[in-house]
Amino acid sequence: MTIATDPEVSSRLVEALRDLWTDRSPAAALHEPFFGGNENAYVRECIDTGWVSSVGKFVDRFEHDLAAFTGARRAVAVANGTAALHVALVLAGVKPGDEVVIPTLTFVGTANAVCHAGAIPHFVDSDPVTLGLDPNKLAVYFDSVADIDNGVVRNRRTGRRIAAVVPVHIYGHPMDIDSLVVLCAKLSIPIVEDAAESLGSLFRDRHTGTFGLVSAVSFNGNKTVTTGGGGAILTNDEAIGTLAKHLTTTAKKPHPWRFDHDMVAWNYRMPNINAALGCAQLEQLPQFLADKRRLAARYRDAVSTISGVRFVSEPAGSKSNYWLSVILIDEAFDSDLESILSALQHAGIGARPAWTLMHRLPMYVDAPRGDLSVAEHLASRIINLPSGVKVARSLR
Ligand SMILES: *Cc1c(COP(=O)(O)O)cnc(C)c1O
Repeated sequence: MTIATDPEVSSRLVEALRDLWTDRSPAAALHEPFFGGNENAYVRECIDTGWVSSVGKFVDRFEHDLAAFTGARRAVAVANGTAALHVALVLAGVKPGDEVVIPTLTFVGTANAVCHAGAIPHFVDSDPVTLGLDPNKLAVYFDSVADIDNGVVRNRRTGRRIAAVVPVHIYGHPMDIDSLVVLCAKLSIPIVEDAAESLGSLFRDRHTGTFGLVSAVSFNGNKTVTTGGGGAILTNDEAIGTLAKHLTTTAKKPHPWRFDHDMVAWNYRMPNINAALGCAQLEQLPQFLADKRRLAARYRDAVSTISGVRFVSEPAGSKSNYWLSVILIDEAFDSDLESILSALQHAGIGARPAWTLMHRLPMYVDAPRGDLSVAEHLASRIINLPSGVKVARSLR
């Protein structure tokens, strides 16, 4: 049994990290937005022309630029990432009373979107390398819990249909989407990719969010690119793309002056003024990605000599956007997570733990689940480090 030497680990960590900047204030926030391009000009243009709301050229341009950047055939801009995921699930055929498989190690938006679609989240475990849903463990789990009757996959214990699987590219690190695609194709279960955190992340040279039937991206203020608040639905299916646009814009039939609607739909559109911000941000995305990668490399070097912690690098064969840089503390020190976090915070470094696992939140304590031991083990050891562009640009 190792005696935890937390004071040592935390003080060496604080020392190593603080030394990365001459001024230590830039690392106080986990992920601040950075506006260094045409943001002012484009937002100003919206105000000057009056095109601030539900239609305008920046919405069209943002959707076009996003599709071009990701390689998705269609991109539909919406109000936020949770709304994107909600509609993506509906478009994938999720119905009230269904179950949707999601990792327990994710942001609450993933689970909430499942509930907004009327379904029940079913929590599964994570891969210790990618931090995302573990497709191999899921395959074994499906063998024990899923029945196929008439082509419909059902949870044997609850009798409910398993209608979709939602992999999440946690902190920007691509999960093993190839293996999941093979598994889900065999079972005819659609994949709805939660790419909220992974704009700019590639799995074997292909952009995350283009593997699933439908995907969701977020442009919240703390994401790699921000529109203030916003999200997008990505798909390679033209018909789904068209329906996504229709369903998120009140299902209004196109007409110059009539208001005529043909479906119960949502007002989930992204306002033009937000899209203007997004267009300016997308112009800078390649530079943002380079900055964040450089910051990640500096963190990796800084912690490489500290025993008891290690940096989590992008999985082999993938390229991460390093949305949030992650370090893992060794098992021997996991009971000291709080004191390590507190030491970092006191030193002006806005480090954070992993989100509370979904199955531990009060509204999801009764939701179905598989074995979650890897996620539990990860969650007790994960530390997210400040990862914004400003933090990268003020490196010593
Ligand atoms: C940010 C995020 C969302 C939700 O995005 P919002 O724009 O905040 O609604 C969903 N899933 C994950 C994994 C996220 O990180």
